[in-house]
Amino acid sequence: MSIKERILIVEDDHGISIFLKTTLNAHGYDVILASSGQEALSLTSSHCPDLILLDLGLPDIDGNDVLSEIRKWSRVPIVVISARSSEDDKAHALDMGADDYLTKPFGTVELLARIRTAIRHTRTCLENDGIARDGVFRTGDLAIDYRKLCVTVKGNDVHLTPNEYKIVALLGKHAGRILTYNYILRELWGPTSSSDNKVLRVHMASIRRKIEDSPVEPRYIFTEAGVGYRMAEDAQQQGEDPYATATMDNAQYP
Ligand code: CA
Repeated sequence: MSIKERILIVEDDHGISIFLKTTLNAHGYDVILASSGQEALSLTSSHCPDLILLDLGLPDIDGNDVLSEIRKWSRVPIVVISARSSEDDKAHALDMGADDYLTKPFGTVELLARIRTAIRHTRTCLENDGIARDGVFRTGDLAIDYRKLCVTVKGNDVHLTPNEYKIVALLGKHAGRILTYNYILRELWGPTSSSDNKVLRVHMASIRRKIEDSPVEPRYIFTEAGVGYRMAEDAQQQGEDPYATATMDNAQYP
């Protein structure tokens, strides 16, 4: 019998927390509950969960402060579950170190997919299997060769500018995760880079014209409106796209 993964649910709404516990238990996870930020911090250090589902609106400490406190000493995957749906709230939580962000209400299929993705990403230390094996990331017909520093679609070279390549390469390394505009700008052009994401949008438009069959219906790089970009995951590595399931009919609470 395999060891169950342990999930800490930090949620002050008792109904939601019980619903989530029941759902996660039914899918083979061990669940512990915290109803305040203080409790979340102490249970995280005493119980070493494999993943944390974190509500932001908590009675004592704001969820964002819980997040930054945990990030001082732990890389445990944290998926934020919040009713706060603004782009700024999402970008802020992701920049603080959240692995993913789900806006309430969400379906259980989507929740379970995001949990699996977040846990897998931590296990592989963000290194994609393909990149680790032969220096190549693949998703669909797109391949990024990190040794030759080139990108191909259906085997044909895509002529990217150096900056375009850097953006695609960064997204490929973190496939499946939303990278915020700020994160991308900082990683590529250093901490003093302007926070103006217009330059990114211009690059992205050009990248999409080069790699996507239909730039308005991208298959490889998705836009999380107002927040950032996400590269599709290697289909073989993960077998499903968690975002593709978002529109599926699945149970929602309450
Ligand atoms: Ca709450």
